[in-house]
Amino acid sequence: MESIWWAFSELHRKGLIYEGYKPMHICPRCATPLSNFEVTLGYKDREDLSVIMNFPLVEDPHTVLLAWTTTPWSLPGNFWLAVGPKISYAKVQSGSTTYILAEKLVEKVFAGREYEVVGTVSAEELIGKRYQPLFPYFVDTIIPSSEKSGKPRSYGDTVFKVVSNEAVEVSDEDGTGIVHLTSATGEDSNAVAKAEGVDVLPHVSIDGFFVNAATDFVGLNAKPEGEDPMATDKKVIEYLKEHGRHFSHYTVRHSYPHCWRCDTPLLPYTTGSWFVAIEKIKQDLLAQNGKTNWVPGHIRDGRFGEWLRNARDWAISRNRYWGTPLPIWRCEETGEIEVIGSRDELMAKCPIRFTKLTVLRHAESEGNLTPIYQGVNPGTDLTEKGRRKAEELARSLRASPARRAARRSLGEVGSEPRSAGRVEKRTEEIFWMVLDSVVCDLARTERQNYLLLPPRPRPPNCADHRPSTRFGSLRAGTKDRH
Ligand SMILES: [Zn+2]
Repeated sequence: MESIWWAFSELHRKGLIYEGYKPMHICPRCATPLSNFEVTLGYKDREDLSVIMNFPLVEDPHTVLLAWTTTPWSLPGNFWLAVGPKISYAKVQSGSTTYILAEKLVEKVFAGREYEVVGTVSAEELIGKRYQPLFPYFVDTIIPSSEKSGKPRSYGDTVFKVVSNEAVEVSDEDGTGIVHLTSATGEDSNAVAKAEGVDVLPHVSIDGFFVNAATDFVGLNAKPEGEDPMATDKKVIEYLKEHGRHFSHYTVRHSYPHCWRCDTPLLPYTTGSWFVAIEKIKQDLLAQNGKTNWVPGHIRDGRFGEWLRNARDWAISRNRYWGTPLPIWRCEETGEIEVIGSRDELMAKCPIRFTKLTVLRHAESEGNLTPIYQGVNPGTDLTEKGRRKAEELARSLRASPARRAARRSLGEVGSEPRSAGRVEKRTEEIFWMVLDSVVCDLARTERQNYLLLPPRPRPPNCADHRPSTRFGSLRAGTKDRH
């Protein structure tokens, strides 16, 4: 773990670490992102609702863009509409409204309606046009990064407009030729957010539930498990109908990725991640590779060289509860970060909080002598011989380098060395050494059950010690009796 911290801090020192967003697929039930490989394991055909929505233009509410999606649950997060630069768009008059959609799709979308094509419009002309937001949730939300620059902008002032971006695939083969985009549900959304200089703002959290801001949908899961995975999609469509933003909807059957563990439909999701800026050093990597003598030689420019040429910035962090915690400390006020490269460096920053506990059980117990039968507790108390051994060990440790180390580390923070070694009386099997002033916390709590230390007065420099998770491992150690 310390070597990973070191490598990470070196990368940071060289200016190669930054925080960004990475689009990925998540399983809302498992509340975890899946790797690209895992995603490919679970493609299956499923039914979804395809919906076409009205987007009246701000400049003329009687002119309406028709956009479509097969993920209605993602609509409360809508930020942009994307058009295809090569697509020709038609103006269609129907009743008192002029609709805009891909010329090729007019017949299909208006089947069964009365309409008249009254003109055309190019993608170029549509780009930049502002439309009325579908939902009011994020209109007044301030874009966090704009606040730092001293010129706060709201999402309402910035997004809700027509864009074009090469990362967004827009075709006039299906739908309406105008695609709905959020900032946080996929690679295309993410690319547009980046291009528009807007912070990603997810409307659904990683467990698949709507965020509190989406007031009409709080408590709902985007793709609920059970009888009707389209239940939330239907609620969204209901909302669109009530607010005059629904044009039509129909059921589509398409190939969709599912969790290989639990079969839940995956959600595209953009989540924060720490990156190594590989592209900054790519030329150097390629140059070094060029000087490297490969055996067999074709690997240099072949497989390995190809891999280097296509290397992108590396999303190095994971949303997991295991693994090495990244050694990043961030100031809540300024947002400045500090990266710690080693344990020593960490201790130098806040020595008083360093707790070193040695928990040891290493002596003969009843369980060692009695054959263990399934379901019968053989007893784990130390034998007479074991207890003598434990006490002997306690004495030797108290006089050992460990005690000298305690003196050294506590000397640095200017307090009196404290240390204690005990054979726990109740089970008579656990030996403790507690090597710092946190003893005060241990002694005044229920932990006395485990640690028979006389209560000590709280030293003044201990004022803000909170008994916290740091004791979690300590207690687990006693319970497990290892
Ligand atoms: Zn799952």
